[in-house]
Amino acid sequence: MLACTHSECWSQFLEFIREKCSSAEYENWFTPITLVDASEEGVRLSVPNVFVREYLLSNYKKELCDFLPQKGAGEPSIEFVISEQQPQHLAPSEIVKEPAVDHLSLQRLRLNKLYTFQNFIEGPSNQFVKSAAQGVAMHPGKSYNPLFIHGGVGLGKTHLLHSIGHHILQSNKRLQISYITTEGFVNDLVEHLRGKTLDKMKRFYRNLDVLLIDDIQFLQNRMNFEEEFCNTFESLIHQSKQIVITSDKPPSQLKLSERLIARMEWGLVANIGTPDLETRVAILQHKAEQKGLKIPHRVAFFIAEHIYNNVRQLEGAINRLSAYCRMMQQEVTEDIAQQTLGNLFEEGPKKQVSVDDILSSVSSMFNVKVSELRGTSREKKIAFPRQIAMYLAKELLSDSLMKVASSFGGKTHSTVIHAWKKVSKQVETDETLRRQILLAKRNIEA
Ligand code: ADP
Ligand code: MG
Repeated sequence: MLACTHSECWSQFLEFIREKCSSAEYENWFTPITLVDASEEGVRLSVPNVFVREYLLSNYKKELCDFLPQKGAGEPSIEFVISEQQPQHLAPSEIVKEPAVDHLSLQRLRLNKLYTFQNFIEGPSNQFVKSAAQGVAMHPGKSYNPLFIHGGVGLGKTHLLHSIGHHILQSNKRLQISYITTEGFVNDLVEHLRGKTLDKMKRFYRNLDVLLIDDIQFLQNRMNFEEEFCNTFESLIHQSKQIVITSDKPPSQLKLSERLIARMEWGLVANIGTPDLETRVAILQHKAEQKGLKIPHRVAFFIAEHIYNNVRQLEGAINRLSAYCRMMQQEVTEDIAQQTLGNLFEEGPKKQVSVDDILSSVSSMFNVKVSELRGTSREKKIAFPRQIAMYLAKELLSDSLMKVASSFGGKTHSTVIHAWKKVSKQVETDETLRRQILLAKRNIEA
């Protein structure tokens, strides 16, 4: 390939891409790229920020290699230059705007102070979406608009949305931001309709600089509200005000009007996936650190291997482990993790265990009647197996403590907690009891 043709190759690549992707995508990602020069080695491209580079390489590497020379197997020979940010020219109305401190108070925005970019652990499943969120936070209204983040439950969508809010609050106090859940928006609308103050609400939303809206899936099947949301949306977008939306599904899978779906696809749609093992370990260690809990790497690995679908559950595991270790004044070990977190672990479908299964297993193991376990006798040979049954019920059932307690002949939930604590403690030192319990568990779950 001749050096002098590399700039043509780049143009051909752009033509090819223009055919291939939507005009919004082209506008967003390819228009800002400029060819600085072309040499024998390849091309030098100027991009406005690292996100554009990442985007290009993660989505179009193969096509780039088809059009341009390669510097290594599968690596297109491109040198990227990040162009300097142009100082932003402020519109006169923005210059005179007073810092609206009241509006911007954290409290009013209801942002969780821990949900910051700094506390958001990066991995292959969320790197791209985090970069996009940072891009939006750094240049609201000027990079991807709207930014639409979608992904399963507990994967960090709300966390990223709050992070954008925090960043903008800190870096540009003049901007009017609102963070709202879709439920909150609908409630607001209902209240203003009732109070005949819809104009006031419209004014509020349409004067925002940044609207962060969480869980848009709750707008499905709510026709009356959808229209007002769509109008707000359009009004903001047309003024280049930033909108960020989260959802459990991509726009195309939402049961919303075609008009709104198309609007939401205007900017960048980014998916947040389930984190891989390494990232889960890093998240666990970060959360443990925040709680002041020391957790050996081996144990973090052990937990991360068993909880893999949901970051919220990883956090729940740390909370539970931390509470347990504090209460029992113990160091975190693999055994303790297994004991305290066993029922959070995802090991494929398990047999549904019932209180009856537990009672009958304990009854035969300790040679007492089920009716005695359910009864009130305080005789040690009955009371102790009863406590073990309660311990097992708390460990193996996902039922509430109240429900467990009432299955034991109407005991209170504090009786169950007392039994659980007592047996948990004894298990630590009594090897025979530990084996008995392990056997009972196997027997019940078989
Ligand atoms: P979603 O809104 O997607 O259901 P959240 O944003 O509420 O999920 O996240 C659930 C919990 O998991 C939060 O406490 C959040 O801090 C945490 N979390 C999720 N992803 C990460 C991550 N990558 N790094 C650190 N914490 C995370
Ligand atoms: Mg959420």
